[in-house]
Amino acid sequence: MSWVVGHWRFPPHCTAPHVSAVQSHCDQLIWNAPRRGEPDGRVMQWTCDCTEAYYELIALGGLRFIRRTVLRNGKSVIHESDRWSFRVADALWSALLMGQAR
Ligand SMILES: [Zn+2]
Repeated sequence: MSWVVGHWRFPPHCTAPHVSAVQSHCDQLIWNAPRRGEPDGRVMQWTCDCTEAYYELIALGGLRFIRRTVLRNGKSVIHESDRWSFRVADALWSALLMGQAR
């Protein structure tokens, strides 16, 4: 787990939660390429960026989605989940943090 390495990076800056390891029951989220020409959403919650993949819960136009940023070969690769109502999005965000969705 690379976050263990990142966790000891100096100075430590882990103030946001980390996602848990994937559990045996894990919903597979659909990850889409970012849509072009959209206004920036509001970042409601986020996970620590010391890991190779971090997540943000974004509110945009009454809906919410999760943005995933993966560092690959020094580049940020961004994907977005489907758009959900805030209830569904908050439930899936919690599941993501607990390793029950990824
Ligand atoms: Zn961290």
